[in-house]
Amino acid sequence: MSRTYQIRTYGCQMNVHDSERLAGLLEDAGYVRATDEETVPDVVVFNTCAVRENADNRLYGNLGHLRPVKKDHPGMQIAVGGCLAQKDRGEIVKRAPWVDVVFGTHNIGSLPVLLERARHNAEAQVEILESLEVFPSTLPARRESSYAGWVSISVGCNNTCTFCIVPSLRGREKDRRPGDVLSEVRALVDEGVLEVTLLGQNVNSYGVEFGDRYAFGKLLRACGDIEGLERVRFTSPHPRDFTDDVIAAMAETPNVCHQLHMPLQSGSDRVLRAMRRSYRSDRYLSIIEKVRSAMPDAAITTDIIVGFPGETEEDFQGTLDVVRAARFSSAFTFQYSKRPGTPAAGMDVQVPKEVVQERYERLVALQDEISWELNRELVGRTVEVLVAEGEGRKDAETHRMSGRARDGRLVHFTPIGDAVDGEIRPGDVVRAVVTYGAPHHLVADGPVLGHRRTRAGDNWEAGVRPKTSGVTLGLPSFGPPAAQPEPTGGCSVR
Ligand code: SF4
Repeated sequence: MSRTYQIRTYGCQMNVHDSERLAGLLEDAGYVRATDEETVPDVVVFNTCAVRENADNRLYGNLGHLRPVKKDHPGMQIAVGGCLAQKDRGEIVKRAPWVDVVFGTHNIGSLPVLLERARHNAEAQVEILESLEVFPSTLPARRESSYAGWVSISVGCNNTCTFCIVPSLRGREKDRRPGDVLSEVRALVDEGVLEVTLLGQNVNSYGVEFGDRYAFGKLLRACGDIEGLERVRFTSPHPRDFTDDVIAAMAETPNVCHQLHMPLQSGSDRVLRAMRRSYRSDRYLSIIEKVRSAMPDAAITTDIIVGFPGETEEDFQGTLDVVRAARFSSAFTFQYSKRPGTPAAGMDVQVPKEVVQERYERLVALQDEISWELNRELVGRTVEVLVAEGEGRKDAETHRMSGRARDGRLVHFTPIGDAVDGEIRPGDVVRAVVTYGAPHHLVADGPVLGHRRTRAGDNWEAGVRPKTSGVTLGLPSFGPPAAQPEPTGGCSVR
């Protein structure tokens, strides 16, 4: 009988996508996903995140819970990968000697071999590489969604934002060749996927490795030629490297969604300098202005950190000013917390917790007011909704379903009306009129104007999820070495 596996994922979209690769690798090696909650899986993989304070306490707590379970189930294996594994390395098996495998961010492809070797040798295997040898996208993947897929365009980051641990754990930026990226996108679309999100720590520096600073805009335009691909999104852009050709590509490529998630982090130039983010607030706002003039319907969202070491009330007012001027449709707001191993953690002017909390509340109140105002302006507008799983579960009382509009907004709609063609499934596309704008979502309570059954919906219903094999064109994964930019700037860290 096949051995079963379970993957527990923490952290950002990169990790979620890496877990799809881990699942693909394990399934190619003959493992099957553990579906029965009651039964103990043969292999539990922790894909960890080191970004948050206390991430290690959480990991060791979880490992502690598994210790007696493992004792009762001889043959069970535990593997730890991801950023925390890259950081803690052999320390993990010292603190939790019942762990069988530790692997890093640069060698996720080694997991099946390491599990096998640990079993064979009856000894923990720790393998951490210092740099990437095989681009993860050349590995198989078992996708979570039938209708939306992540596609990595780069991994790593050449910047050194003082609050961020990513560069030391993920290494310098490695860009995938455009042909490889597009092959993977096509393979997903061939499996029925309608929406693709291009992923990189800094998508705007894509191409630096193979010497084409306009590569990202070209990539967006090339996605526009892929038949059947209805929505293209990307995350995260970087204000320093954002070039006008990307705005033009967004505006002129019909399947690229008019949505931009561009991290601000702070509206104070003094704080941006301390964060080692090389753009300034006027540069940030000028990009927004250009995006809005090319795409007046664009929904712009951001990340903001409150209470970075040394942030004064005046600095914070600078952030509020930018928020007022930018009119974000929503913002991920974070209270600064020390992230071990980052330069900011050692800065001696940490802002008191209660001050951070009070500023945070003022920022959230302002942003909510703006989000609500913008959402109310959309009442009466027809939106196209890609029905989502999880979000798309029917609400038992109201029978509402949910999904995302093209601009990324969450829409709750009522699945009624003559246009509804049978059951509406996640992966299907509906059109409906917005009847109410709430601060964090839209409601469309009237009849559905149009319902398109899709192959993604059929696949969702049949329980079929795309399984891509490693995609390469037989070209080297990386371009020839090129001059690297000076480390600066930043991206979204969630
Ligand atoms: S650009 Fe993003 S990933 Fe890179 S150092 Fe800054 S915050 Fe971290």
